[in-house]
Amino acid sequence: MSPSHDAIELEALRARLADAEETLRAIRHGEVDALVIGAVAGEEQLFTLTGADQTYRNFVEGMSDGAATVSADGIILYANQALADLVGASCSRIVGQPVLALLTEPSWPRVRDMIGPASPGGSIEAVLLTVDKQEVPALVGASALTVDQTHITCLTITDLTSERNAEANLAHLAQHDALTGLPNRTLLTDRIQHALERRTTGTGQLALLFCDVDGFKNINDAYGHQVGDAVLKTIATRILSTIRPQDTAARMGGDEFVVLCEDLADPGTAAMVAARLSAAVAAVIPTSIGEIETTLSIGVALAGHGDDVSSDTLLRDADEAMYKAKRQGPNVIELFDETLRSMAASRLELLSDLRRATANGELRLFYQPVVDIVEESVVGVEALLRWQHPTRGLVPPDDFIPFAERSGLIVPIGDWVMREACHQGARWQRASRSGRRPTMSVNVSGRQLTHGARLVDTVQAALADSGLDPTALILEVTESALMDDAAAALRVVQRLKSLGVRIAIDDFGTGYSSLVYLKRFPVDLLKVDRSFVAGLGRNRDDSVIARSVIELAHAFDISAVAEGIERPEQLAELRRLDCRYGQGHLWSPPRPAEELGHELVVSPLQPTTAASTVA
Ligand code: C2E
Ligand code: MG
Ligand code: MG
Repeated sequence: MSPSHDAIELEALRARLADAEETLRAIRHGEVDALVIGAVAGEEQLFTLTGADQTYRNFVEGMSDGAATVSADGIILYANQALADLVGASCSRIVGQPVLALLTEPSWPRVRDMIGPASPGGSIEAVLLTVDKQEVPALVGASALTVDQTHITCLTITDLTSERNAEANLAHLAQHDALTGLPNRTLLTDRIQHALERRTTGTGQLALLFCDVDGFKNINDAYGHQVGDAVLKTIATRILSTIRPQDTAARMGGDEFVVLCEDLADPGTAAMVAARLSAAVAAVIPTSIGEIETTLSIGVALAGHGDDVSSDTLLRDADEAMYKAKRQGPNVIELFDETLRSMAASRLELLSDLRRATANGELRLFYQPVVDIVEESVVGVEALLRWQHPTRGLVPPDDFIPFAERSGLIVPIGDWVMREACHQGARWQRASRSGRRPTMSVNVSGRQLTHGARLVDTVQAALADSGLDPTALILEVTESALMDDAAAALRVVQRLKSLGVRIAIDDFGTGYSSLVYLKRFPVDLLKVDRSFVAGLGRNRDDSVIARSVIELAHAFDISAVAEGIERPEQLAELRRLDCRYGQGHLWSPPRPAEELGHELVVSPLQPTTAASTVA
């Protein structure tokens, strides 16, 4: 709109107002400025525009708030640039439109009242609609004006967006911790309440993990608050990265954090979450003054479906359990409920014991001979992990490897296995008098495969340190581990192969076995799972599966190794099927290195009485 600077006679204006059509035309030409100026002046007396009134007009034009004049029937007679900017249209587009078109429907009745003859004036909050349908919160103020019996309204429209944002920020601040950005006690309590209300399924457990940083005061005292704050921030980030997206991590103030988990399958899972948290926090924290190590004391409280608890009791229980944990020394997890504790305790205990097992030298490797079925001689061994627990005795891998997998402990344990097995393999190679170099098979878990770079480094270092011939090392990977993320697994396997080692697929036939694998993976050996070997010579179906696995291996030019051979008739059947290698109690169960050494290095094993010495 290009407003005319000419003065307008009052009489002429009044005449135009009487005729809406004519008024609009005039307005579009910018002649209606006089109305605005009259309103801003707050005077009901109209006067002709003179050069002096230009000041008023400049004022309205330059206002940062939107301004408009509206006829009694709601037509916009004038709009300033600020309003045009807010709405995203030009002034001339806005003028002539019903004012309600600029607002969302809920505010229409109140705006109608404001512009009507009986307008109470004042202001209301409404939502402005931009031309591209964006909603803008706004304060709409009105003042009525009568121009020679003609009622018009002057509106001011103030954009409330930044105020709303500020309000939202304030609300966020009121519910969050400023240092870490985590929810604070207020929001946590609210979330716990909602979680308690949501417990609908019979099995879903709700767990509250109260975590306190061990020795945090010392960190603060020794290195100052800046370092202390940095440590707390790192701990907050680690806690967040450990829990599921639907869980809540909150800071209670100081060095206390609380994690809320919903829908846990059983108390053991809560214990596992706690174990993961403590492992995540226990890793060294880099700070400006160097690396800092710290641990968590964690108290866990649980609420099942039927439990009648409030958020306060649950928090208090978890807090109490945490204090109990604190008293037992750093890095302890304590469960609140006595009965639930007994269910989860042994798992938890096993896990914390396992964490110390490597350092305490409680892990051992047993070795089971792998036999060439045709020549009836030992060609190598498979290293099988054993845990010599101080009170439980010898713990078999199936009892702790699944935990180690889930908690991530399998990665450092796997490193140890790799080093130990390579050293033993190299020792046997050096001692070999038969000229044969026994192979060393090492089981690799899926979790290790997902930490591919570390696995490759570990294997490389273990080979270099021990001097074991890389071609003697066979890495056994299960089908399911390869399948988890086949593309990533393939990359790792290729890098391992480039070190010169061989790859075996373990437990073949139990997973998603398909030809696709064998084609895609550079595999050297297939291990026929012992469940198929078990029925050989007895069960026709098993014979069929075992035969097809062996034939499959041959078709791809891969050697087959049958696991779990216990009876001579199984061996006979495997010979018929042309299976080259086997292992099992028929020859020997897994045994310590010192027991096996002689047989391995000097003379071939005979399939004899070993089966009766099975542990
Ligand atoms: P696997 O790799 O399939 O190992 C073969 C399992 O069959 C071993 O059980 C072995 O003791 C058992 N076995 C061998 N011959 C016979 C037999 O004639 N009859 C019967 N009934 N069993 C036989 P083990 O040592 O209890 O190991 C179980 C599983 O634990 C292994 O299965 C492997 O998946 C895992 N495992 C063992 N050591 C390690 C390790 O160092 N790292 C990883 N990631 N997993 C391991
Ligand atoms: Mg194996
Ligand atoms: Mg196996």
